[in-house]
Amino acid sequence: MAIEKTKAHLSREEIVAKQREFLLPSLGSHYQDPLPFVSGKGFHLKGADGREYLDFFGGIVTVSVGHCDEEITERTIAQMRTLQHTSTLFPIEAQARLAERLASITPGRLKKSFFANSGSEADEKAIQLAQAHTGRKTVVALRHCYSGGTAGVQTLTAHAPWRIGEPNAFPVVHARNAYCYRCPFGKAPSNCSMECAKDLEEVIQTTTSGEIAAFIAEPIQGVGGFITPPADYFKEAVAIARKYGGLFISDEVQTGFGRTGGKWFGIEHYDVEPDLMTGAKGMANGLPIGWVIANDEVSTALNGKVHLNTFGGNPVSSTAALATLDAMESRDLPGNAQRVGGYFRMRLEELAEKHSLIGDVRGMGLMQALELVKDRKTKEPAKQELQRVVEVARENGLVIGKGGLHGNVIRMTPPMSISTSEVDVAIASLDAAFAQVK
Ligand code: PMP
Repeated sequence: MAIEKTKAHLSREEIVAKQREFLLPSLGSHYQDPLPFVSGKGFHLKGADGREYLDFFGGIVTVSVGHCDEEITERTIAQMRTLQHTSTLFPIEAQARLAERLASITPGRLKKSFFANSGSEADEKAIQLAQAHTGRKTVVALRHCYSGGTAGVQTLTAHAPWRIGEPNAFPVVHARNAYCYRCPFGKAPSNCSMECAKDLEEVIQTTTSGEIAAFIAEPIQGVGGFITPPADYFKEAVAIARKYGGLFISDEVQTGFGRTGGKWFGIEHYDVEPDLMTGAKGMANGLPIGWVIANDEVSTALNGKVHLNTFGGNPVSSTAALATLDAMESRDLPGNAQRVGGYFRMRLEELAEKHSLIGDVRGMGLMQALELVKDRKTKEPAKQELQRVVEVARENGLVIGKGGLHGNVIRMTPPMSISTSEVDVAIASLDAAFAQVK
């Protein structure tokens, strides 16, 4: 087959046609009419259609500082010119420095890191560590969670559209989640007695031997649609997990690195110390990295085995992560996520007063969601309407995400360096889209 090698750039139509021909059809597309992007700067993306877009999704909660950030890019390129790869068989300076830095910003006694290339691998490793440490297999996860695409974490994932086949890597039981807008116990926030946290005990007592390896949870469920538990949820749920011998794994793949505002990690809002924590996505502003950190006791669980991850925390990804952390710290992005996130939330609540399609506004910091319903009383999910809002927003030059079990949640996670003026632009686009869709 003759392959065209000389052309610098393909047209939008050519890229889409090539993807259709050579990539798995199950990859799907965010938009009905697929949109490849050709460049990015700060909060903006340029499409292969020649148009500019304000990015309020950041490549799925990943471009945490901004597209092609000068400082991060320069340091990453310098590392690429110096040393790209040696493997984890040899100590890597940037990885060791990154691990030290992460030990200093993570809560409690978390100290020892292991690096991989994705959130899935990070969650897999956290489960392996918890199982080896406790000598048990059973893991408690939450309904609506998403933990990744590999076999083990697919078994955890409790979200049918994202579960492929019938994954069954180790015993997993699923407790009810703190989905306050659709409380699984039919309660209103005013008479909440946190049955969801208590459900953990019921599930452990009735569906396990009474001894578990771990409880894994996202502080805010990402793919689930930014489901945000009440302030006391984790204290209660984690105490139950520990009563039955389980370690607590905080999956910070979406909530980590300042995203929730004012703190480095989502779980810090809940005043609970995890035994293990995982991260990926926004950690290196778009370069592939996955990470698990354990406290001293748990960190030795896999001793006696050789631990390898060929690319994990390689010099380039680790340097990009260090540069991302430096940029976040020097520009106070966790603080900015809190301040601008607060303003964004207020503006979203104003939108909800105007447009009855919006049933719920939720999230923290610069991780905000709108759940769309056909009717505020019946709360029937408005999936088609959501797709139309997403499409009209695109026409208005705004990229937003989708999520939720019923595909009716708009997820918004712009680069954390945005200011209130970008929020105003996004709100105007959303307002126009809701006015058109209804
Ligand atoms: N955990 C959570 C909470 C996630 O949102 C994701 C990805 N959406 C993963 C794990 C898996 O990460 P990755 O796609 O990098 O494997």
